Amino acid sequence: FPVENIRNFSIVAHVDHGKSTLADRLLELTGTIDKTKNNKQVLDKLQVERERGITVKAQTASLFHNCEGKQYLLNLIDTPGHVDFSYEVSRSLSACQGVLLVVDANEGIQAQTVANFFLAFEAQLSVIPVINKIDLKNADPERVENQIEKVFDIPSDECIKISAKLGTNVESVLQAVIERIPPPKVHRKNPLRALVFDSTFDQYRGVIANVALFDGVVSKGDKIVSAHTQKTYEVNEVGVLNPNEQPTHKLYAGQVGYLIAGMKNVTEAQIGDTLYLHKQPVEPLPGFKSAKPMVFAGMYPVDQSEYNNLKSAIEKLTLNDSSVTVHRDSSLALGAGWRLGFLGLLHMEVFNQRLELEYNASVILTTPTVPYKAVLSSSKLIKARRAVQKNMIFIDQNRVMLKYLFPLNEIVVDFYDSLKSLSSGYASFDYEDAGYQTAELVKMDILLNGNNVEELVTVVHKDKAHSIGKAICERLKDSLPRQLFEIAIQAAIGSKIIARETVKAYRKNVLAKCYGGDITRKMKLLKRQAEGKKKLRKIGNVEVPKDAFIKVLKTQ
Ligand code: GDP
Ligand code: MG
Repeated sequence: FPVENIRNFSIVAHVDHGKSTLADRLLELTGTIDKTKNNKQVLDKLQVERERGITVKAQTASLFHNCEGKQYLLNLIDTPGHVDFSYEVSRSLSACQGVLLVVDANEGIQAQTVANFFLAFEAQLSVIPVINKIDLKNADPERVENQIEKVFDIPSDECIKISAKLGTNVESVLQAVIERIPPPKVHRKNPLRALVFDSTFDQYRGVIANVALFDGVVSKGDKIVSAHTQKTYEVNEVGVLNPNEQPTHKLYAGQVGYLIAGMKNVTEAQIGDTLYLHKQPVEPLPGFKSAKPMVFAGMYPVDQSEYNNLKSAIEKLTLNDSSVTVHRDSSLALGAGWRLGFLGLLHMEVFNQRLELEYNASVILTTPTVPYKAVLSSSKLIKARRAVQKNMIFIDQNRVMLKYLFPLNEIVVDFYDSLKSLSSGYASFDYEDAGYQTAELVKMDILLNGNNVEELVTVVHKDKAHSIGKAICERLKDSLPRQLFEIAIQAAIGSKIIARETVKAYRKNVLAKCYGGDITRKMKLLKRQAEGKKKLRKIGNVEVPKDAFIKVLKTQ
């Protein structure tokens, strides 16, 4: 394929503006998939994506297209829209020369539209604005054109108006890709230089690396070297994604495809790595800034006997998703486990769900926290979240963009939900890291009859200590069985008690209920009680079942 006839582009947009649906139509129009009524987000291949109806992983597809007698190779990457997955987007852009920026004709420019535009702009890519869903009754494409001109400085006549759902005007999108996006600047005569921009793990074939070739050629049987590990591999298979893997003899510079080379170990296939031919070393490509986790949570097997299985599942899944950080951790209540770092709460939920769906693992996930740096020494909604306003831009008469500086822990858990409900669904939200700030944080202890429960120590903001402490005490009260004596549950900062609940004394007679019942049922109940005891932990004189910790620590 001559390089002049190759186009590499990503589809980017705010969540639900129709990226994956547009990808379906482009796949159909180029004959890559058969045209049926049932093509719905075919590039959303993961089970978790189909269940949630969102894209979480960027997907590549190679399309062949005839235009004015010339055959073109179009490499399309569909990307996720949610802020938690913008790392996927920025990686995908490194393999592209242009983007389709899709904007919903009814909703107009939203937070991730702006964020994605700037990712593309900074990477110096051609941006083709596509106004989608013009079939909707409330669609107002002219208003959206004006927004695009005002906010991104793109002339409104460059906007292409389509309905991805109905297929209206989608040919113009293909036409624009060919005319407005430049071919990749590559050198096929130079030695191989390939960027690993994504990788997945297959149970049987090992690591499948998605590569973009900047220079040279790679063939089956070649010996290649990883610039990162300096290890040498033999290439077992190369091919294109069509959209499923289709082996080819070679991949040439300018192409985007996949490569399998017997990498078995999770640390071998680093995303951002450069591959080159054995004995023909090259200057490595710039790679990627590593993703910075924002939200941390503990992950533990429900049963310690599952530890090794869960360990291997986490290792394989982190290969699929290198933005998750993993550190070994242990908890008195929950045993051996890990402390995982995620890019956001949705990312954490998706990772957890993928462990269940793809690896059949069931885990306990503790309430997420954000990173703090501790220094040892002696308006609405927005105000309550300790935010500082930075600036305000009117996008048009009905829409305003506000910038605030927020403490991260105020936004990770429920800010998005509160914002949506307060604004009746109209507001959208995006964030990026602004570095550490000083804050008045305190260490809060939870006491049972005066004894500290190490498992439940937390760091909270001074102003929120009371309400959080109260909530933990209440949750603990609900999950602690009554015992022969009264139990005082207290939240304390230093020696100061800030919240208290009491569990009244009571002896639970498990046999009372089956007076006169048959003996096997009694035996079963006694056995169950004995098993329950094994999982108790004694804090002072108070027996705490493992369950109670889980209920307090777990995500709600
Ligand atoms: P993504 O999150 O950007 O990938 O969006 P999807 O492609 O998953 O689409 C989100 C929703 O919008 C789905 O329910 C689609 O059926 C719907 N949708 C996509 N394009 C159109 C369109 O042109 N018109 C209408 N009415 N709905 C659309
Ligand atoms: Mg999608």
